[in-house]
Amino acid sequence: MAANTQDPMLNDEEAQILDSIDRWVDGEVKPIARRFDQADEYPHELVEQMKDLGLFGATIAPEYGGLGLSASVYSKVVARIAEAWMAPTGIFNSHLIMAAAVQRHGTEAQKTHWLPKFASGEIRGGIGLTEPNAGTDLQGIRTVARRDGDHYVLDGTKTWITNGVHGTCFAILVKTDPEAQPAHRGMSLFLVEKGEGFTVGKKLKKLGYRAIDSAELVFEHCRVPADRLISEAEGRGFQHAVGGLELGRINVAARGVGLATAAFKDALRYSQERKAFGKPICKHQAIQLKLADMATRLEASKLLVEQAARKYDTGERCDLEAGMAKLHASETAVANSLDAMRIFGGYSYSTEYDVERYYRDSPLMCIGEGTNEMQRIIISRQLVERHPL
Ligand SMILES: Cc1cc2nc3c(=O)[nH]c(=O)nc-3n(C[C@H](O)[C@H](O)[C@H](O)COP(=O)(O)OP(=O)(O)OC[C@H]3O[C@@H](n4cnc5c(N)ncnc54)[C@H](O)[C@@H]3O)c2cc1C
Repeated sequence: MAANTQDPMLNDEEAQILDSIDRWVDGEVKPIARRFDQADEYPHELVEQMKDLGLFGATIAPEYGGLGLSASVYSKVVARIAEAWMAPTGIFNSHLIMAAAVQRHGTEAQKTHWLPKFASGEIRGGIGLTEPNAGTDLQGIRTVARRDGDHYVLDGTKTWITNGVHGTCFAILVKTDPEAQPAHRGMSLFLVEKGEGFTVGKKLKKLGYRAIDSAELVFEHCRVPADRLISEAEGRGFQHAVGGLELGRINVAARGVGLATAAFKDALRYSQERKAFGKPICKHQAIQLKLADMATRLEASKLLVEQAARKYDTGERCDLEAGMAKLHASETAVANSLDAMRIFGGYSYSTEYDVERYYRDSPLMCIGEGTNEMQRIIISRQLVERHPL
């Protein structure tokens, strides 16, 4: 891929970053994706390479040791990696959502202490919102943190937490006032490192998004110093957690673009190689219709992601745009994976091709960072808010 330097929207430094990502993807990610996915094996070497590439600090400000990428460039980085293999993007994206909570809402002392360690990858982790009984309805969580002198004591269980096994530090959403009404006023976000009282319950087995650890995290009388409370004020955790989802949604949308691109490119190539009834299958109208739909959905998704990322970069509220991008790009990833399967026929079912992996990986994009049902509700609410009578 040598298209970076031709993109007029990129400055030289951004073009160089994307070129290094392309080289890394071609040289290191693509060759191992199928094997590691099928073995469900954690890609330790890729993680070390991600540190060297600066990916753990991709959106952290340069003053704290990060690359300070705009959402627009970051989403391109994510899409390029996801095109080769979606799963590893979760290793740095969940980590960066944790870092964003500190960068956006932390005290200066918290930023100076944590962000350089996050940016270098010395400390890696993710975000712990979901619980066994509450995912979409985050105000229904049961994990609590009670003040005890200059500490808080956490009790509860989180589930589905990306990087749960291999990460060591997580931004954990808890209730500091379980009686508060509405519930979100009693919620807070803490940075919690593994140690006494904080253990991994179990690693979860999954349909796709393999090789990357998703785990249950258990807190039993886990004592954390009071200065781990992000922003040092109780009751703001829900807003801090939900606020971080705009960038998270742009990221999931970018992963969708990557997956949808891979499915489309594989299908386009295969349809010209595979012959049936004396001609390449791309000359059969039924296949042509699919290729046209795949390409059109994909281009629309790219534009929506670009629009959302640019709006995010202006600092304006962009939940409508991020929601639309996430909704369309994730559904496109699912649709393109399924169309690629149909175009590959029986071979789509073979683990010797990547198409079956796209098909297993893509539905996660419709669930993570707010389900697509919720995206529609968010989009609709915003439409009414922005266009009142
Ligand atoms: C592989 C993987 C990785 C993940 N990583 C993380 C992570 O790192 N950190 C983290 O905190 N979480 C993570 N999650 C959890 C994910 O964010 C949740 O699964 C998601 O938010 C949905 O929550 P739920 O599974 O509890 O579904 P539920 O909330 O139980 O929803 C079930 C269904 O009901 C629908 N629904 C619920 N409420 C409404 C409503 N008001 N209106 C319309 N429909 C509604 C939902 O859209 C969905 O279709 C991960 C999940 C997976 C599968």
